[in-house]
Amino acid sequence: MLGPVILAASRSDKMRRFISAAPGTKQVVDRFIAGETVDDVVPIVVDACAKGLEVTLDVVGEDITTPEQAAAARDAYLELVAHLKDLGLGTKAEMSVKLSMFGQALEGGHELALANVRPVVEAAAEIGTTVTLDAEDHTTLDSMFAIHEELRKDFPQTGCVIQAYLFRTEEDATRLAAAGSRVRIVKGAYKEPASVAYQDKAEIDKAYVRILKILMEGDGYPMIGSHDPRLISISQELARRAGRKLDEYEFQMLYGIRSDEHVRLAAEGHRMRVYTAYGTDWYGYFMRRLAEKPANLLFFARSILTK
Ligand code: FAD
Repeated sequence: MLGPVILAASRSDKMRRFISAAPGTKQVVDRFIAGETVDDVVPIVVDACAKGLEVTLDVVGEDITTPEQAAAARDAYLELVAHLKDLGLGTKAEMSVKLSMFGQALEGGHELALANVRPVVEAAAEIGTTVTLDAEDHTTLDSMFAIHEELRKDFPQTGCVIQAYLFRTEEDATRLAAAGSRVRIVKGAYKEPASVAYQDKAEIDKAYVRILKILMEGDGYPMIGSHDPRLISISQELARRAGRKLDEYEFQMLYGIRSDEHVRLAAEGHRMRVYTAYGTDWYGYFMRRLAEKPANLLFFARSILTK
């Protein structure tokens, strides 16, 4: 019930100002955001890799409003690549990007986002790593998939994300489950209308399993983005039935959520990648994490009230 209200608030500037300024916010934000700067996040990456985990790094930010902000997003990722180069971790440390942060919603945004993201993908390839394009709300996806296809002509290892709650996704999965593709499947984190997306949790889970099956039986590389224990074990079973070895798919979870499970799955020999977000523009990312679990909201409300 609360999820859609929180997701609506995630797009409100008034709420952004209120929540960002509230005492006690930082303590809760720190659970999900690994730091403000690249220097904060580097030790976290090193520590994760030492524990046998892999990471995908996200510089938080979305829905920017000027071309200058889009260029700044590109530069923030290029700064990150320079640091990753020194670490020499290859694909153990890859990057995730949101095209709305690269200017996708501005006038001429499709071309602008492509022009801004291309140098990041190019720089990533030069240091032996990859980039995955996150999925945002459904109105942005045709553009995201077109940019993904364009980038893959030169950088075939570029990944993308599909969302189980959307009716369109089984078709997208079928198209994407081809040799060389890297596809992250998630449930979906945005507020979507009933005309395009399942609203019922059980329906979303069923769709997730159907899509997992398509990806596991296909020729691409499935990346299972979920903390749901049932879906994790179904993935393992589907991978086994499809004859996939442990390095022919991977699990992905978010920094700060079910951290013990990250380590447990890695210790079992699975590839486990932790989506690690950092930066100062954390509001949208943080609100989606609150919406996913109402208990987070109670914890947040308590920390504000006790400050
Ligand atoms: P749920 O049923 O929501 O959660 C299962 C269990 O996990 C819960 O019972 C709880 O114990 C724990 N849990 C889940 N979320 C939280 C939380 N916020 N706080 C505390 N505990 C929690 N969505 C997009 O729309 N686009 C993307 O590009 C995208 N990328 C993602 C990348 C990764 C690596 C992951 C893991 C998720 C991503 N998401 C993305 C978010 C995703 O769509 C879901 O909203 C989110 O993963 C919650 O769904 P779940 O599969 O974990 O299952």
